[in-house]
Amino acid sequence: NDVQELLKKITRKNVQDLTPYLSARRLGGKGDVWLNANEYPITPKLTVHSDLNRYPECQPLAVITRYAEYAGVNPDEVLVTRGADESIELLLRAFCEPGKDAVMYCPPTYGMYSVSAETFGIQQKIVPSTKDWQLDLEAIASQMADVKLIYVCSPNNPTGNLLHDADLIKLLEMTQDRAIVAIDEAYIEFCLQNNKTAWLKRFPHMVILRTLSKAFALAGLRCGFTLAHRNIIDTLLKVIAPYPLAAPVADMAAQALLPEGIETMKQRVLEIEKNRTYLIEALSHDERVVQIYPSFTNYILVRFKDSAPIFKGLWDSGVILRDQSKQLGLENCIRITIGTEEEMQAVVRVLRSLTVA
Ligand code: PMP
Repeated sequence: NDVQELLKKITRKNVQDLTPYLSARRLGGKGDVWLNANEYPITPKLTVHSDLNRYPECQPLAVITRYAEYAGVNPDEVLVTRGADESIELLLRAFCEPGKDAVMYCPPTYGMYSVSAETFGIQQKIVPSTKDWQLDLEAIASQMADVKLIYVCSPNNPTGNLLHDADLIKLLEMTQDRAIVAIDEAYIEFCLQNNKTAWLKRFPHMVILRTLSKAFALAGLRCGFTLAHRNIIDTLLKVIAPYPLAAPVADMAAQALLPEGIETMKQRVLEIEKNRTYLIEALSHDERVVQIYPSFTNYILVRFKDSAPIFKGLWDSGVILRDQSKQLGLENCIRITIGTEEEMQAVVRVLRSLTVA
């Protein structure tokens, strides 16, 4: 048809070839038990008081000051964004020039680093992690030419492990004069003592990505944060949309960041830990399970002897998990989000009922 012909002519080449970020929702999964996107299973109840006739603040003050206090940084070191996903994009927009600069990341890891780089037409230096999912510093050092931005994820999605402090420090030292290092801490609330905000003073080229989507149970709100030196924040403010956060979003984010909201978040983390322990224990008796990897997050990565029939069997029974088997080094791996106790029992029950090997 005509539109298709036109689009073929005028759509940017890299966009034509792009596979969008895929979620089970998009694939039309019909589940009762959604354990595919690392969401929290129960919604917080928040109310909205915004004046909707007015444009919202670009950087809503209450959200910024409360998040700064929670994270232990200065308000001018905080940028609030439309989810951490927008922070990922802003860094590319500010620091990587298409056709000239490169971005680096270390799979297996979060898929949006690659999708965003594709979207912007930025060259990607893909440096696989070591076998135990740590940074391969030698390979990184050898591929630094033209790299202006590096994404690392700790705890890492989908493997659930933390990166070693000593490696991160070496990475930060080797990049001081040439690139931004973004540490994605989307899941840090599940192991808060491992957060790296204290390093921001020592490494002004370091950026931390955060979100309200995980332990704060607000994935539907689309609210994330970038923590960095105020000069970096000022640079990102040059490329952010005029009003990135809808007023009701800012309103609800500010409520979620009140002391009682943070207390509730900590309770959720304890609940998730309890349910994670239950699921790991139950799966460890399943002979189709090859390995359950240690997790510092609200999901676990599980390697099966043959994951495809297991994934499909659960899917057909309405238990929607995340297939990771196509990711580098993750053959036969499935990621399971930790949900309610009942949801964990459902996983175990359906898994037991499957007759597949
Ligand atoms: N980073 C990682 C590692 C994630 O897993 C996610 C959520 N899937 C994000 C960033 C994006 O989070 P947000 O919902 O804030 O955009």
